[in-house]
Amino acid sequence: MYMKDFTAKVVSTEGNQVVLDQTAFNPHGGGLVGDTGWIDDAKVVDTVKGSADSIAHVLEAPASFAVGAQVQGKLDWDRRHRIMRMHTSAHLLSSIFNKKTGALITGNQIEPDKSRIDFSLEDFDRERMLTYCTEANAAITKNPPVKTYFMKREEALKIPGITKLATAAPPDVQELRIVEIEGYDTQADGGVHVQSLGEIVRIDPLKFENKGKSNRRLYFTIP
Ligand SMILES: [Zn+2]
Repeated sequence: MYMKDFTAKVVSTEGNQVVLDQTAFNPHGGGLVGDTGWIDDAKVVDTVKGSADSIAHVLEAPASFAVGAQVQGKLDWDRRHRIMRMHTSAHLLSSIFNKKTGALITGNQIEPDKSRIDFSLEDFDRERMLTYCTEANAAITKNPPVKTYFMKREEALKIPGITKLATAAPPDVQELRIVEIEGYDTQADGGVHVQSLGEIVRIDPLKFENKGKSNRRLYFTIP
């Protein structure tokens, strides 16, 4: 997750899209925006899941790479690191909200500048929700490690709160990727995260919105 540049070979191109034999670019999905950066001098404006599990780099202009050519990939690291910090923040917040209220996550949108999480929660009390954000910031100050490892699916599913999504079940695979904020949260997750909570620096709640009977939305950002 900390690989900022890499060498790869071009597997295929189609219009503005390029598929490489390996990549450090993380595709759009699971509530996270896709990575941006460069392949040689060509600007990558998005990364998406292509056909047959491929990862397609979307260029600003039609691709002019030859199949088999060796290229240099380079992430827009400032943006990507913010996505990692935002995403880990979302895990921490959802864990605290879930522990305090039993709320499940009904949606999230992780972006570099501003992110949001939707909770299924009957109660709408801004003051109380702010205290959960304060608690999240106290956890960040303690700087626990964020660990990533694989676990057998049936073992992982025994962990309380392993999935906090209201609608999605973990993928039907033998081993699940686990992301653990030591002492705070353990979730099955495929996304990009920081290695220690202190990298987030601080979570700034921006707005709480009442989105219907039991749907609450939190917008937040990071410095
Ligand atoms: Zn996640």
